[in-house]
Amino acid sequence: MKKKVLFADLDGTLIATISERTFPLGIWDMKFRFNTLDAIKNYGFECLYIISNQGGIENGFVDERHFTNGKMNYIQFALQEYLGIPVGYQYCPLNTGYYRKPNIGMLENACHELSKWNFGVSKCDMLMIGDASGLPGQFSDTDKKTAENYGIDYMDVYDFTREFLPNE
Ligand SMILES: [Mg+2]
Repeated sequence: MKKKVLFADLDGTLIATISERTFPLGIWDMKFRFNTLDAIKNYGFECLYIISNQGGIENGFVDERHFTNGKMNYIQFALQEYLGIPVGYQYCPLNTGYYRKPNIGMLENACHELSKWNFGVSKCDMLMIGDASGLPGQFSDTDKKTAENYGIDYMDVYDFTREFLPNE
C-alpha cells in the first residue's frame, strides 16, 4: 500500500557533510543527498517530516540558534521547493529523554502537527527512513528502533534509494 507521510532522519539520510566527517564542522558543512531526495520525489509522498537527534547542541558543539534559524530553515524551504510537498521538522537538543530517538516523543509531536496540517493519516500510511538501522558498519540502530517503538514501517535509506530509484 502506498505510504503518504515520510519521516526521515537528517544527518546521513537527507544530508551529508562536505568534510566527510561524522559531525559537521559548522552549519555550512552540509550537502543534500540527492539520491534520497529524488527517491522521495519519485515515490510521491504527500509530506516529509524530519526527525533529528542533535545532542551536539547540549554538548556545546552546535549553536542552537544557528542550527534552527540558519540550517533548518534553509533545509526546510529548500526541500519544500525541491520536493514540492510540505516539510516539517523536529529535533532533540538533548542526549537523553523521551524526545531523543529511539524514544518516540518527536514522532508524537510531528503527528500532532500533521493533524493541524489536516494530514489525518494513520500509522499504516507512514514510513520512516534513516541510516541508523543496525546494519554492519552503521553506528547504531536508533532510527529503526524509533520506528519500531512507534509502530510504523521502516527502511534503511540505502535500501530506500535502491528500491525507489532503480537507475541510481
Ligand atoms: Mg543519521
